[in-house]
Amino acid sequence: MDADTILPNLLGRLEKYRQTQTQGTFVDYHHPEDLKELLALDDHEGTRDWQHIFEWVEKYLNYSVKTGHPGFVNRMWTEANLPSIVGEIVAAVANTSACTYEAAPVATLVEKYMIAQMLDMVGFESGEGQMTTGSSNGNMIAMLAARNSADAKIKSEGLFGRPALFAFVSADAHYSMDKAANIIGIGLDHLVKIPVNADGALDCAVLEKALADVMEHGGIPFFVGGTAGTTVRGAYDSIARLLALRSRYPFWLHIDGAWGGSVVLSQTLKKAYMPGIEQVDSFTWDFHKMLGVNLMANVLLINNRPNEFARVCGAGDNSYIFQQEQAEAVDLGSSSLQCGRRVDSLKWFLDWKFYGRRGYADRVERFLDLCAYAEKVVNNAPDLEMVVPRKSFNVCFRFKTPGHIDANVFNLALRTALHQEGLALVGKAYVNDILVLRLLITNPAFNESAVEQFFDTLVEKGKTLLQRHGS
Ligand SMILES: *Cc1c(COP(=O)(O)O)cnc(C)c1O
Repeated sequence: MDADTILPNLLGRLEKYRQTQTQGTFVDYHHPEDLKELLALDDHEGTRDWQHIFEWVEKYLNYSVKTGHPGFVNRMWTEANLPSIVGEIVAAVANTSACTYEAAPVATLVEKYMIAQMLDMVGFESGEGQMTTGSSNGNMIAMLAARNSADAKIKSEGLFGRPALFAFVSADAHYSMDKAANIIGIGLDHLVKIPVNADGALDCAVLEKALADVMEHGGIPFFVGGTAGTTVRGAYDSIARLLALRSRYPFWLHIDGAWGGSVVLSQTLKKAYMPGIEQVDSFTWDFHKMLGVNLMANVLLINNRPNEFARVCGAGDNSYIFQQEQAEAVDLGSSSLQCGRRVDSLKWFLDWKFYGRRGYADRVERFLDLCAYAEKVVNNAPDLEMVVPRKSFNVCFRFKTPGHIDANVFNLALRTALHQEGLALVGKAYVNDILVLRLLITNPAFNESAVEQFFDTLVEKGKTLLQRHGS
């Protein structure tokens, strides 16, 4: 095999993998020690033999999780959209870094074009945006921007000898907020977790008291992070109520829409779930979750603050790389926290061109309908129950157990059995100490009968386990 035949050979294998992804079990599961042996990672070093390379490829594909399989409903992503796969392959072959215009002219313009589309769609009239490495990073940069805007001297002088800064999120906010508090130097104790109400949304009355309390004690409430679609329950914090609080307290209002922010694509869902989004200070969401772009594809938008990204993220002497001489700064890297930047924009752009906003909106609306259908199936199934009512896309349910059996232990065992037998991988989480199974639908091939099939498989396995338990 010579180098000229490698790509056609590879594409043939990938096409076969893609077409058979939905068949059989979703994973050939092995415990880590057994898999290590099967993979024989020590073999074949330095052979320059393409045959060996393809053996590794086959091993990778054989033992990986088939995320396009209907049993894979565990996480917030699925098999990637085909146009984005095309973009990913092209970007890999034409390997470059999207940090300067001279090294990445098309990627620079494509990213700027896509950001402009997003700003327009969200309604940030004089906004700016950037692709980051994910919403965790988007949340962190937003918190960093809020920190620096609370006190312009912090960027040069640090947090030493200043009034304490406090950030606020709901108790159900994503754990990346805790990481952000650690990274930007305010400390985990200064990230205040506000309880959620019965709907799973941030309790704004409690938030207001907490804001007032911090001010009274000389602290600065510099950041409030609302969530559009919480990771576990799918709750949307009230943007209108957070905006009302922002008019009275000096905080930056960020919305984390990593999961549920995709509703902005649909005019009707945007109005229903995120009214007021055009007035917040920043907003992040992932195209690699509900929308199916290859991992990672994220965007962070900042409202009403020209050049904020450069002010917040820029530091150090980078004149060796960026073109300060040019009247109009064209280098995306100069306002990024990264130096090298993956070309994540091309796959995103190709998807956008292929489906258009309408195509994406249809997909999100369809997922919501399917989730409503799934909730109905649970409510009609004698062996299942919803743990909390569905707020949007997340279906949090469990298998009902007789009184003498610990429901958490049983449902965890059920989940593990489904996983290790390759039948289905469903999410799990805790709501008020109750273990919930969490169905997330992000696969565009999913339909009503796939929903039924999923629950049928789960109920059948649950009954078998229950019988074994009783005997
Ligand atoms: C998934 C998720 C994140 C993290 O996003 P990454 O892109 O994986 O870093 C942040 N917030 C919420 C609400 C999420 O669901």
